[in-house]
Amino acid sequence: MEQSDQNLYLYAVELARRTIITDGHVDLPYRLQVKNFRLDREYLGIPIQTNDGDFDYERAKQGGLDAPFMSIFIPSSYQNDLPAAKALADTLIHMVQGIIAAHPDKFAKGDSPEMIEEYVSQGLICLPMGLENGAPLISLEDISYFYAKGIRYVTLTHGKDNHICDSSYDTTVTWGGLSPYGFEVIREMNKIGMIIDVSHISDKTFYQVMEHSKAPVLATHSSCRFFTPGWERNMSDEMLLALAKNDGVIQINFGSDFLDVEISTARRESRKELNEKLSQAGLTAEDSLAKPIIEEIKRKYPNLHSDVQRVADHIDHVRDVAGIDHVGLGSDFDGVGDSLPAGLKDVSMYPNLIHELLKRDYTEEDIEKICYKNVWRVWNKVNEIAGSR
Ligand SMILES: [Zn+2]
Repeated sequence: MEQSDQNLYLYAVELARRTIITDGHVDLPYRLQVKNFRLDREYLGIPIQTNDGDFDYERAKQGGLDAPFMSIFIPSSYQNDLPAAKALADTLIHMVQGIIAAHPDKFAKGDSPEMIEEYVSQGLICLPMGLENGAPLISLEDISYFYAKGIRYVTLTHGKDNHICDSSYDTTVTWGGLSPYGFEVIREMNKIGMIIDVSHISDKTFYQVMEHSKAPVLATHSSCRFFTPGWERNMSDEMLLALAKNDGVIQINFGSDFLDVEISTARRESRKELNEKLSQAGLTAEDSLAKPIIEEIKRKYPNLHSDVQRVADHIDHVRDVAGIDHVGLGSDFDGVGDSLPAGLKDVSMYPNLIHELLKRDYTEEDIEKICYKNVWRVWNKVNEIAGSR
């Protein structure tokens, strides 16, 4: 790095630590759940310092991350058993509360922007929570039930249509958007002050939410469809315009599949070819004999990861289409496996993104909007609308 670039990087590090950074989506609870996390002594170190995964306290501090939304993720398979979905949500929430209770010198709750600002000023990392999949909302009362437990947004569904709405990944078109119950859920969320998360839903569901929600919404971990044409999990320019009109925010997902169609195509083809070669050889990826096959595929597909510049391209795109007031960060750390881009491999690396934005002449005020102020505006507005009823 040249001297001037080095200085700009140091400024980025300083800015990352000075400004609040909120991230719409970190999948730590589910990673711990898969690891059979228990609140025992042997596991308590995991959220503090670890070599696996993308999030822990030490790295978050390094990266200047202050308020990552912990995803209370309910897989679509639970949609066939709503009481089990609710029980899983309770377990994951309990786990996050347990992490906070075990480390009161490091972590705190994050129930509102004011609460987060207060705790962050004391040097703590807040762990607000979002429910990813509305499956646990068996009845409308469950919205206030989960609100009382600290859930502040609900992603209406996940990879499949559920009892609330249709999913972007599902081709069934069960409802053609929201279900009759889904319309009631939207009304109730507005009333309680629960933020609506429009990531994962189908386009039709999205436009119905835009039409019926009285409050602005978040897309907590989506990117721009402009870079991945035809892929409904990301948002089209037309949707970005509707989102701006709603005064909402899209929080950019860092997963390489969300960032670049050429890379996502190469990733899919390489996976397919690897699986074919492994099954022909009667091997699994874990076998030591599989190593040369994996190496060969890696050589054939050298370009399987996007980069931090591409994430900045998505931020540029939202700014150009919808405006600087409508973009934020929603990494999907701990949720997108090994697909993270160069320069953004874990929560210690937000300064690299800020560095890139500074190079592109984003002002400090722009960067503060991206890091938290836009999301705070939505959150406060959702509260205000709930309070006025
Ligand atoms: Zn997700």
